[in-house]
Amino acid sequence: MDNQFNDIYRVTADSVTNPGNLKKQRFIEEQQKQLQSAIAHRPSGIAYFENMMYSGQPATGSPRVGYFCNMIPQELIAAFGAQAVRIDCGNSAAATVGEEVLSGDICPLAKASFGKFLVSESPAASCDVLIMPTSCDAKRKMGEVLNDIKPTFMFNLPPEQNHERFMSQTVDQMIRLSEFLHKHLGVRLSRRRLRDVIRQYQRRTLMIRSIQDERIREPRSLSIRDFFLIIQSSLFSMVDLDEWISHAEAVLEEMKLFSADRKNLRPRIVLTGAPMIWPNYKVLNLLEECGADVVADTLCSGAQSCVDPVVIDETGKKALIRALTNKYVYASICPCFISQTTRMNRIIDLVDQSRANGVVNHSLRLCQLFDIENYRIERTLKNKQVPFINIRTDYSLEDTEQLRVRIEAFLETLW
Ligand code: SF4
Repeated sequence: MDNQFNDIYRVTADSVTNPGNLKKQRFIEEQQKQLQSAIAHRPSGIAYFENMMYSGQPATGSPRVGYFCNMIPQELIAAFGAQAVRIDCGNSAAATVGEEVLSGDICPLAKASFGKFLVSESPAASCDVLIMPTSCDAKRKMGEVLNDIKPTFMFNLPPEQNHERFMSQTVDQMIRLSEFLHKHLGVRLSRRRLRDVIRQYQRRTLMIRSIQDERIREPRSLSIRDFFLIIQSSLFSMVDLDEWISHAEAVLEEMKLFSADRKNLRPRIVLTGAPMIWPNYKVLNLLEECGADVVADTLCSGAQSCVDPVVIDETGKKALIRALTNKYVYASICPCFISQTTRMNRIIDLVDQSRANGVVNHSLRLCQLFDIENYRIERTLKNKQVPFINIRTDYSLEDTEQLRVRIEAFLETLW
């Protein structure tokens, strides 16, 4: 396998001597946990998912592969016998560590994700290898910096979501990624194992779809914050997928038995924009506290990251890799791909399917991808007479009350 990086200028990452930082990260998680404990109706088994999201995670004997964004198939990593754990981070205390070393003028998600590597005891620091897609400029450059800390594979995304033109190049990238995993994990990719793992993950897709459908029918049967916890625990933690599926099944059964007070109607919202990653649920807290229900989302850290199944037509190794490429790269609605049409279509479809009253866009400061997309989304939805608001914020809690006022005013216009 050819090397992606030249090591001659390798530097040792500055260690951050801030013993209080890990404590602060835990405090922020605890604060969010407290806020969620006040949710009126919660599934009895929610503690399982909550515990999985905590910084300290159970050690397993298998190697750990950290990946960023949602274009990297967990199935491929699991087929090598490794734990796949998404490393994108939503903790503002980790962002403080990241900015001490990288720069203050990059998006909080990138800073926080990098910060996780500088604090021991985090899942990021315990990964054996990393995979970074070239999704935005911050990630593109961060991959090279991270390669000084852990062997990192840069997954080159196509410049357009045109599979007729770029499919073979993207499949080649997946094959190159497989070679990287083979080299570092010392395991051969078995066709049968890959097929079985894909089938196992199809069950997760089905489960998230069923919960999503149930929420569209009755959003109060599960808070959006708890739904995000459930989804994210299967992406960001060292979860045993079969165990996760059985816990999620129990949640779904409880949801079916829930009946809400019909007199108390609440506005229904479709959420779009930049990812919201535990414990950064500030905007979700505000939307629910202000009396709205998020009934669907297009976030790469929400339901949209998991609801499309991997469709298997043939079971040859290359055909399976092609099926993964189709789902993870060519069905992605991340704005790092040129055309905005797929994301726009998804938002409009979700507004119709979920009978939403309005759309909320979450922009993360210093993430130009969503900032620039906002222009067209706002005008298109206005033409369709769908109420829309853009919430531009970062990980800090300083603007919480300001945002509350804006959200309350927006929700009042929906009735
Ligand atoms: S929005 Fe796109 S670039 Fe940003 S974290 Fe999600 S997948 Fe990655």
